[in-house]
Amino acid sequence: MDQNTPIIELKGVGEKAKALFAKIDVNTVGDLLSHYPRDYETFAPPVPVDETVPGEVCAVYVTVAGIPNQKKIRNLTILNVLVRDASGGMQLTFFNMPFLKKTLKPGGYYVFRGLVQTRGAAKIMEQPKIYGLDDYHKQCGQLMPRYALTKGLTNQAILKAVRQALDAFEYEEEYYPPKFLERHELISVREALYGIHFPMDYEALKEARRRLTFDEFFGFILMLRKNKELVQGLDNSYPMLETADTVRFLEQLPFPLTNAQKKVWSELREDMAGVHCMNRLIQGDVGSGKTIVAVLALLMCAANGYQGALMAPTEVLAKQHYEGICAYTKQYHLIFKPVLLVGSMTAAQKREVYEQIASGEANLIVGTHALIQDKVSYRKLALVVTDEQHRFGVRQRERLAGKGEQGIAPAGEGHPHVLVMSATPIPRTLAIILYGDLSVSVIDELPADRLPIKNCVVNTAYRPKAYNFISKEVAAGRQAYVICPQVEAGELEDVENVVEYTGKLRAALPDSVQIAYLHGKMHPADKNRIMEQFAAHNIDVLVSTTVIEVGINVPNATVMMVENAERFGLAQLHQLRGRVGRGEHQSYCIFVSSNEKKETMERLDILNHSNDGFHIAAQDLKLRGPGELLGVRQSGDLAFRIGDVYADATVLQEAAGAVDTLMREDAELAREEHQLLRQHFEAHGRPGINSIDFRTI
Ligand code: ADP
Ligand code: MG
Repeated sequence: MDQNTPIIELKGVGEKAKALFAKIDVNTVGDLLSHYPRDYETFAPPVPVDETVPGEVCAVYVTVAGIPNQKKIRNLTILNVLVRDASGGMQLTFFNMPFLKKTLKPGGYYVFRGLVQTRGAAKIMEQPKIYGLDDYHKQCGQLMPRYALTKGLTNQAILKAVRQALDAFEYEEEYYPPKFLERHELISVREALYGIHFPMDYEALKEARRRLTFDEFFGFILMLRKNKELVQGLDNSYPMLETADTVRFLEQLPFPLTNAQKKVWSELREDMAGVHCMNRLIQGDVGSGKTIVAVLALLMCAANGYQGALMAPTEVLAKQHYEGICAYTKQYHLIFKPVLLVGSMTAAQKREVYEQIASGEANLIVGTHALIQDKVSYRKLALVVTDEQHRFGVRQRERLAGKGEQGIAPAGEGHPHVLVMSATPIPRTLAIILYGDLSVSVIDELPADRLPIKNCVVNTAYRPKAYNFISKEVAAGRQAYVICPQVEAGELEDVENVVEYTGKLRAALPDSVQIAYLHGKMHPADKNRIMEQFAAHNIDVLVSTTVIEVGINVPNATVMMVENAERFGLAQLHQLRGRVGRGEHQSYCIFVSSNEKKETMERLDILNHSNDGFHIAAQDLKLRGPGELLGVRQSGDLAFRIGDVYADATVLQEAAGAVDTLMREDAELAREEHQLLRQHFEAHGRPGINSIDFRTI
């Protein structure tokens, strides 16, 4: 049994389970083993009832005080049981478990473990798990993995499959040389896989995580390095000169560029006129005005007689860019002949656009990534701008890097200049590593005319006030976003989900308020429709997962309410906040935390005092303790499978150093001791990614 064995070959995995596993992208044993737990449950020793904390999962060792009381409401059997220890009592409620009435004997002692809640002055637990004291002690101190699930697939089922796979798996030989492992204090890949799924203790888990994170970063940086060698030497096939067009456009704009925009614009001009092909990233916080700089570059491109392309991650964004550019073109008499290329267009419409592109009639092509990169034949494509908005993450880097020569450039023609725009805030030291193959420009200044967003960090008791506030804003003609961490009930018990929350909100807000929801599991056409309806103000309140981050520019939206804010990284919250404050109206951000731990409140409070994404990301990094590494993934953007560039910054730096050394000593991985390493990264790269070709050097 190896990496590629289909999981159906595991005992207990039949056709039905296979289909369920496929839903979480697990098809092979290799996939299964890299389906790392998202979290670990620890079993702490029981505590006295009066020391249990509402809102936390606790275990109590108690006696059943009195005969369980059972009632039936329609299809639901409700069993209430009073329990107590020397310190106090609590009520337990079980649903549809009538057999417990006989099992739980008055006077008997049990361990109950569950989420402690309050009802009036009383403490309660619903559906706690029941253990004998000995059994419970056996579990104590262990870390039980909790996996990302899908409806119908239980944690237990995944656990069983993983255990079986680990036992029968034929590991490839360790690919790092022994000296390398020693130098970087890494455990073997085999130990690491065991350790990540079934850690003996917290230390073992940390070591396992460190090894797997290191591997992931190492492979990624290695790939960047190869790519850098590829692109750095590329000649500038499309040298461009500044013309009167850009100068005139700038003079006519109703606002002056900020100093940061001016600096970046001059960097772009230099690049495009220079000896080598441009390969540049513009980093700039939300609202810092990246678009106008890109438009200037595209204008220079058109003025030099070339074509340019502007790619956006979603159809809605592509349309917005297109409309914006059409408006500029008309108003300032620019030489653009723009076309739009998106999936919802009919075949006939697309064909017409393809022709305009091929003939050179169109000199600016705006569209979604997939379409622009597809089978379009360009006439003289000299500049490709990618607006990644907030998702300039690992996948995108890989895609861009993997493109190389055979990408978007037609055979026989030169490589176009590449410009990427990103709002992912990331400290400079890390940017140098993660964007190692790009030149980086930073727009670190906002236009002067912005009204700062008003923020508050509150607990769930504040909700009625927040709903009231949203109603008022809606009545005044504004719109609001409400963000929940998960799509529907099921995966995580204790966090809000979009589907149910929408129902709750409909009940809480006046009937006249139009509420809709949006999440990543919806059909793309439905997502587009909802986003367009929100942009057109047919929807007042949009309940959404973080998919909205890459969404739309709706200047009329003035309220951003985030539920379970404690579950998000600060960088991500900051980006969510960037969805409001984009227009003339005062905007507000309400971060609702479901736990009131001091550290959580302190962390969230940083958002109250800063609007600077770079500062926030750095603070987040500083505050994040090792304990939090195991919780819900924090930085959605730079989403590696296991590594977190903020929290694992030291590992990232170490891996970068290791790649440096390797490249210095044996750039072609020709030495005997590096053969396994070479084979491993050639074969796997990172899971699902093009392998790395070392022969291109
Ligand atoms: P982002 O960097 O998030 O992509 P945009 O490019 O969409 O930001 O710019 C946000 C808004 O700011 C746009 O309406 C744009 O016209 C405006 N803007 C851009 N530059 C300036 C400037 N120098 N002064 C005033 N407003 C600006
Ligand atoms: Mg933008």
